[in-house]
Amino acid sequence: MTELRSGSATHVGQVRSNNQDSFLVLVDADLYGVADGMGGHNGGEVASAMAVENLQEHAGEATLENLKQAARIGNRAIFEKAGAEPDLHGMGTTLCAVRVVPGPEGDEIAWINVGDSRVYLFRDDNLIQLSRDHSLVEDLLRDGQLTEDEAKVHPKRNIITRALGIDIDVDVDGSTVIPFNGDRFLLCSDGLFGEVTADQISSVLRRLADPTEAAEELVRLANEAGGRDNITVVIVEVVDDDGRSLMASVALAEEQSRLESRDEEPTTVEAEEEPAEKYVPVFADRKSSLPDATDDFDAPSADEDLFGGIDNAGSRRFTWRVALFVVAILAVIGVVLGAIVWSGSNTYYVAFDGQNVAVFQGKPGGVLWIQPKLVETTDITRSDLPQDARAVVAAKKEFGSEGDALNYVVTLQSIVDDQEDASTTTTAVTTTTRPTTTTSAPVTTTTPAAPTTTAP
Ligand code: MN
Repeated sequence: MTELRSGSATHVGQVRSNNQDSFLVLVDADLYGVADGMGGHNGGEVASAMAVENLQEHAGEATLENLKQAARIGNRAIFEKAGAEPDLHGMGTTLCAVRVVPGPEGDEIAWINVGDSRVYLFRDDNLIQLSRDHSLVEDLLRDGQLTEDEAKVHPKRNIITRALGIDIDVDVDGSTVIPFNGDRFLLCSDGLFGEVTADQISSVLRRLADPTEAAEELVRLANEAGGRDNITVVIVEVVDDDGRSLMASVALAEEQSRLESRDEEPTTVEAEEEPAEKYVPVFADRKSSLPDATDDFDAPSADEDLFGGIDNAGSRRFTWRVALFVVAILAVIGVVLGAIVWSGSNTYYVAFDGQNVAVFQGKPGGVLWIQPKLVETTDITRSDLPQDARAVVAAKKEFGSEGDALNYVVTLQSIVDDQEDASTTTTAVTTTTRPTTTTSAPVTTTTPAAPTTTAP
């Protein structure tokens, strides 16, 4: 049984008159959430409160799918209420949440996200953004239309492209993470990361052991930096990871590298001007106007940044690194061995077998335990060949395929034939009658071809 402890804090900030953020800390169900509402009158508060209420009410049995489903039910409820009450028209909310769910090899932490509130994982001194913002700047960034520096100060960075309550259905992102002792999951509204840098967040999470104190300190820093938006922070810490073995399996190593490969996400937004209210653009067809993020985040492949930050080792990180390193080395050895075996058996060469030209499969002299195999001995003998061609065959000319090797033999044969043909042609010139039985070469070839020694 994975055990957690948590802390939370929320604040209206220094500019806004009301706090439209809501959050959920449900210790008994291991369920935690943050919602950041938007909409005139009190629509924002209503929408974010409905999102967390529906999350609590409909989360059901602990699975990632149920978590997503609870978000979709909340979406429908907010959408219908917004349609029914003119004062609440257009209200919406972000929602992010985490929950302990059973996995195939023990407990996992499931997370979901809609909008631009964020789920981070602070592990071994690294702050990793698990969720991906559904925002205009994130889309532009992904399309390469903005640099990360431009995105930080983009005037429309408050525009989100997905929220609960805007359409009758909503796509919910989500995934699971294998938890380890000391992992800290940080859920927050944009009022935090809009004011506080990733380094500052990491510093607080590193420094303050008590989750409540850490949450309050993060809120304090956001207010100190301007507090231009409501600020909400929920910190969930893994205090018992169910005795999970760190060296257990390759699957765990893959999990780690998958997480770390996302570490390059921009995590700070330095707000220079007054942030506008959170706003979801309602286009006739929003999906065609803005590229929609895919439903589930596609994990980058495990070969990305496999050893990023290898020097940044805590003791557990060290065991992780060792496990990763061993796995990677084994993989490299496997690939190299495979290539050697492949080349040892799938290359060909032409050499003399006694006095005759022959085709062999393998590498001259063999590779490891793989000895070359005689494929075919030809009728061409050493003495048939001109000096240069003889030297090439003596040097054991190699080819990438059997076909190429055989083609070369054909070339050698034609050199031999041309030599014979040339001598008979000379005879023919003096006798004016052309002997037809002395050659098998094409009759149009009357001059010896230069010996061909280049590889095909
Ligand atoms: Mn906000």
